[in-house]
Amino acid sequence: MSERVDVLILGGGIIGLSCAVALADAGLRVEIIERGAFGREASWAGAGIVPPGDFDRAPTPLDKLRAYGATHFADFSKRLLAETGIDNEFTVCGGIEFLTPDEAAEYPALWRAEGLAVERLDDGCRGVVTPPGLSAWHLPGFAQVRNPRHLRALIGACERRGVRMTPGTAVRGWQFRDGVVTGVTLADGGLRTARQYLVAAGAWANDLLAPLGQSQRVHPVRGQIVLFHGRPGLVPHVLLCGKRYVVPRRDGRVLVGSTEEPEAGFTKGTTPAGTAALTAFARDLVPGLRDAEVEAAWSGLRPGSLDGVPTIARVPGHDNVIAAVGHFRAGIQLSLGTAALVRALASGADSPIDPAGFAFDRSPGSTARPTFRS
Ligand SMILES: Cc1cc2nc3c(=O)[nH]c(=O)nc-3n(C[C@H](O)[C@H](O)[C@H](O)COP(=O)(O)OP(=O)(O)OC[C@H]3O[C@@H](n4cnc5c(N)ncnc54)[C@H](O)[C@@H]3O)c2cc1C
Repeated sequence: MSERVDVLILGGGIIGLSCAVALADAGLRVEIIERGAFGREASWAGAGIVPPGDFDRAPTPLDKLRAYGATHFADFSKRLLAETGIDNEFTVCGGIEFLTPDEAAEYPALWRAEGLAVERLDDGCRGVVTPPGLSAWHLPGFAQVRNPRHLRALIGACERRGVRMTPGTAVRGWQFRDGVVTGVTLADGGLRTARQYLVAAGAWANDLLAPLGQSQRVHPVRGQIVLFHGRPGLVPHVLLCGKRYVVPRRDGRVLVGSTEEPEAGFTKGTTPAGTAALTAFARDLVPGLRDAEVEAAWSGLRPGSLDGVPTIARVPGHDNVIAAVGHFRAGIQLSLGTAALVRALASGADSPIDPAGFAFDRSPGSTARPTFRS
């Protein structure tokens, strides 16, 4: 490539693609380099749950990032549909959270403090069996997006904006002159230079951040999903129970997730124990799924972080490198807020989101428990 772009994005998952759209909208020239195919790793594997949020009242930096996405996802989805013709099926379908007595003493108060609508369902929900010992809480603002379609729409939006898309090309490392990053080296022997670089390499981000002195930022946490061939209307809402959930798609398919397996390292794949546990969980919760066929199962590697909070900031000591990494279980819902913050960092514009909570040296106080677990 002859002309130097303003921002070279390393990694084309939901974070890299969403940032590319936002950066191009700010008038910057952008290229994304992706090792495989765009959007085929964690971002494709995820369930697409988007919890509700009130940006002004969200209590922690992470909650604000989530609330930014909750507030903007519907309009952004309409824009993507108008531009690309791809419907990402963003739907405010409502959710039911099943809580233990201890959780019920804590979470509903957090949700109400943020101004979110929530109602306890004393009679449960039709077609759904409240697990013994738990109470059911309906949050009508819960939404979902069909993430594989959202990713296709993002790719289309990037192409329309003239973002240079380079799939099938792994970034190997950095080129330095006098300690300053001057380019990236590619697996095919090539070299790319840019004014700024954005590391958005998901669970693999440490490979790129370690040579910049940041070796502990991200680790992989495998998650498995089971897909049922259900029928429309069988599951009324997103159902959430601790770290597990059931997500009904418009066409009747039902996703059930997920496991948390940091011990799997970078090995993707499903296990008989993982899929059996998810299948049993779903069929206990929704007896109507007992007759539904299991159509598929898959896994993805979440980019875990030490404190559960993503890092979205300039890399210390490397002013021309920004990182947007470590979104763990929430990269889909956090993608729009992340893109807004990256756009501000890269363009020098004001940020709608306070960057302090996502800095490399953020204080432990900014890592308070998030208002939602999924
Ligand atoms: C089972 C499961 C369920 C989930 N459910 C939800 C949910 O309901 N809601 C939600 O908000 N989040 C969910 N998540 C989390 C969400 O999917 C992730 O947080 C998000 O996808 C992270 O996006 P990313 O772009 O950082 O990573 P990825 O999608 O993994 O993208 C990173 C990209 O970087 C590329 N790359 C890596 N190294 C290099 C290199 N050296 N050179 C070039 N390219 C490179 C990779 O090939 C990859 O395509 C779920 C995740 C899983 C696994």
